[in-house]
Amino acid sequence: ATSLEELVSTIKWDAHGLVPAIVQDAASKEVLMMAYMNSESLGKTLESGETWFWSRSRSELWHKGATSGHIQKVKSLRYDCDGDTLLVLVDQAGPACHTGSYSCFFHDVKLGALAGEQAPEGIKDTVGADRFAILNTLEATIAQRDAERPEGAYTTYLFEKGVDKILKKVGEESAEVIIAAKNRDPVELRCEASDLIFHLMVLLREQKLPLDHVLQELDHRHNKKK
Ligand code: AMP
Ligand code: ZN
Ligand code: ZN
Ligand code: ZN
Repeated sequence: ATSLEELVSTIKWDAHGLVPAIVQDAASKEVLMMAYMNSESLGKTLESGETWFWSRSRSELWHKGATSGHIQKVKSLRYDCDGDTLLVLVDQAGPACHTGSYSCFFHDVKLGALAGEQAPEGIKDTVGADRFAILNTLEATIAQRDAERPEGAYTTYLFEKGVDKILKKVGEESAEVIIAAKNRDPVELRCEASDLIFHLMVLLREQKLPLDHVLQELDHRHNKKK
């Protein structure tokens, strides 16, 4: 849609003039929350670049973060195949949930238990599973630490210390990778390479650069050479 009017006529509003809006972290791709928009809040969202919803409990427009400060900067907006659901990708400041949780979806239903069975074991470890799944998990966990700042977590410590501390760690870990490689010590190299990747990912989060963009750059370079 090119105009708000066109978009408003495309969206399938429910009987109350609302549409569910799923909010996703643009960097980690974690699903953060779901809330409803009416046409006015959609207009305000597009106009301000920050999320606005319709609060059904308070019957009022709601600028997410107005009281908590946890605003959401809109990076992109999509609607689904049949136009009855919005997807909003955001830069999330702090926790998205009013409980202080990074994501609203922290209640984990144990599937096996529901069916009265044993929980399936080791599904994630089966052959053919995505070898890089840990990078996704790690990116989401780092985003969660950034939002929630749990006490005692090392990642919290890094974010609280700030960018200079993170940069110092990236420098140190790079040097340690070099030393381990010079020593031809595979055990040490494995540890130091892990340290470097972890701190680099913390830096990417601090700089609001999604890992996706780095992977796309690598992919782009590779495909150019072919
Ligand atoms: P905020 O928009 O973050 O300033 O929060 C204002 C109020 O909106 C809170 O007190 C909650 O009632 C509600 N709220 C904020 N975030 C959420 C959310 N993710 N899901 C449901 N309600 C929320
Ligand atoms: Zn749909
Ligand atoms: Zn919530
Ligand atoms: Zn190290």
